[in-house]
Amino acid sequence: MMDPVSAPTPVPIELTIFGGTLRARVPVPAGPTTAGDLLTPLRAITDAVVALSVKSVEREGRSVSCRAGCGACCRQLVPISRVEARRLLGVIEAMPDPRGAAVRERFRRAAEAIRAAGLSDTLLHPRREKIESLRELGVDYFRLGVPCPFLEDESCGIYEERPLICREYLVTSPAERCATLDDVKGVPVPFKPSIALSRLGEEPGREVVAFVPLAQLFEWAAEQPETPPADDPPRPGPEILGEFMERLSQSGATPPVIGAEAAVGWAATRRRGHAPPG
Ligand code: SF4
Repeated sequence: MMDPVSAPTPVPIELTIFGGTLRARVPVPAGPTTAGDLLTPLRAITDAVVALSVKSVEREGRSVSCRAGCGACCRQLVPISRVEARRLLGVIEAMPDPRGAAVRERFRRAAEAIRAAGLSDTLLHPRREKIESLRELGVDYFRLGVPCPFLEDESCGIYEERPLICREYLVTSPAERCATLDDVKGVPVPFKPSIALSRLGEEPGREVVAFVPLAQLFEWAAEQPETPPADDPPRPGPEILGEFMERLSQSGATPPVIGAEAAVGWAATRRRGHAPPG
């Protein structure tokens, strides 16, 4: 019989975006777990948020132009959460050679190009930068033309495992514009699951969201202590999901840009005795 602490408990969530509402009961372990172990439901919530956003642009007569075999956007700076960084290191470790060796070699080459451009330290330690200069950094990074090391034949080689920020990025403008970033029309996603995940457990007053530059995964890993990660301690599943939904609602600082009302409401049961996330 399953331990009642690790047995899944359904947590109700409700999310309203651009007039569309997602209601679901998300099964998470009642007892201690980690955000890393909840990536599957967090990805499902992300995909649902993006689907509601896509429906909204379709109501305006636009359609998503992203297609398999178009990897122009995979040359942008891809800031991922520490939780996803650890997961992807495991994904690479599980890859048999020669593919695993090829992926590791692409990471080595990407990190070398970033270092040669003088961007390595700045990207790995974004606390030192102002948010405005991080935006400029993104443009400088794109100009390097460094493909994501997971890009294979211009398609994502880890599609099921791709980070939340990759799931959030869709465009409706012609694909060729993505190669120059010239007048790219993205699908507005008013609330950012990628930011909510990066902010889980974040200390108050932080100026810049902590992120890991995907192409520098191994450089970041080399700087991490060998002890279990302090930023993803085991907590009851409903508490982690509740904090994620709250952070998600906070991630909507940018008003919706296509003229529709957007709102997020969340309701997540929390086990008695656990404080609301700060
Ligand atoms: S993880 Fe996949 S989708 Fe994301 S940037 Fe890399 S290749 Fe592209």
